[in-house]
Amino acid sequence: MAPNDCHKLVNANFSAVNARHEYARYSRQLILPEIGTDGQSALLNSSVSIVGCGATGSTVLNLLARAGVGELTVIDRDFVELTNLQRQVLFNEGDLDLPKALVASEKVRRANSDIIVHDIIKDLNPNNAEDILGHPDLIVDGSDNMETRFLVNDVCIKHEIPWVYCGAVGTHGMVMPIIPRATPCLRCFIPNIPPQGVLQTCDLAGVLNTIPTIVASIATTEAIRILLAKHATDTKLIIYDVWEQTLQKMSVIKNPSCRCCAQSQFEFLDAKKGDKITTLCGRDAVQITPARDGTIKLAELAGILDRIGQVKHNEYTLLFKDPHTDFEMTLFRDGRAIIKGTRDPEAAKSIYARYVAR
Ligand SMILES: [Zn+2]
Repeated sequence: MAPNDCHKLVNANFSAVNARHEYARYSRQLILPEIGTDGQSALLNSSVSIVGCGATGSTVLNLLARAGVGELTVIDRDFVELTNLQRQVLFNEGDLDLPKALVASEKVRRANSDIIVHDIIKDLNPNNAEDILGHPDLIVDGSDNMETRFLVNDVCIKHEIPWVYCGAVGTHGMVMPIIPRATPCLRCFIPNIPPQGVLQTCDLAGVLNTIPTIVASIATTEAIRILLAKHATDTKLIIYDVWEQTLQKMSVIKNPSCRCCAQSQFEFLDAKKGDKITTLCGRDAVQITPARDGTIKLAELAGILDRIGQVKHNEYTLLFKDPHTDFEMTLFRDGRAIIKGTRDPEAAKSIYARYVAR
């Protein structure tokens, strides 16, 4: 369905709801002076994309769906793992090995059938970012790495889409709304990706399960304020520590020579296009994303690999254990693979080439 058709459908839905005075679902928001009938109508006619569906992203998706944002898109490359369940509150044991975007979108559709929810099971990269993100009214960051955030920043500044940066690790988290042209962008604040090892990650530093939900709530509030054009004009970086109970609001200054928002150099979006091979920090794994999308017949491949090693598959993913090594490969339908048991891109490439003929 084309995005415009979705808007029409949502408009029609809202008019029907309006006509029948069936405001029960949103009644507690409608009486809030901050939202009201006009605000609810604006939310129902808005579109938001959420990049990443981990602890923060899935909570943002859940809250925006229940608040009645008319069209939501969730983009995530991963599948549900046991280590996620401690903090990713939308998932349960029955969801293990299934794609997060798919599980999350199905669950929020069950919570609100008045809205449209799209799920995209893909790795957002320079090859596909502009196509996948399109032109929603707003993007919320639920990603777990700076490379994706810098890419989202490039797309948002280039196409003038407001976005909300957020992240949580350890016991603290941060949120910063970014309005192209009006406020500083992510690169005004962090000019370049810090070298590996400088930033904390959840895989290495751990994360208390209460902080991503708080960060998601702050980010969702900022998202709603932007959609209703009721956001603050002096954007601040909000830093909250749930263990220390400290809240800081830091001013970020627009850099007049920022490569991205001042000079329109979109380095992360214009990065060399080709097969993308990334060592996943702290996970002892390498991800391979082919430059061109294809569709792999997972059931057929499972039949072949079954003769060689241990295979498990469902409609979306195939898990294969190489009997000769300690490598474990998770393959997605679009050809992307995560090779566990190595941090060496060359070793991962050779495993991929050995078992995935393209
Ligand atoms: Zn900037």
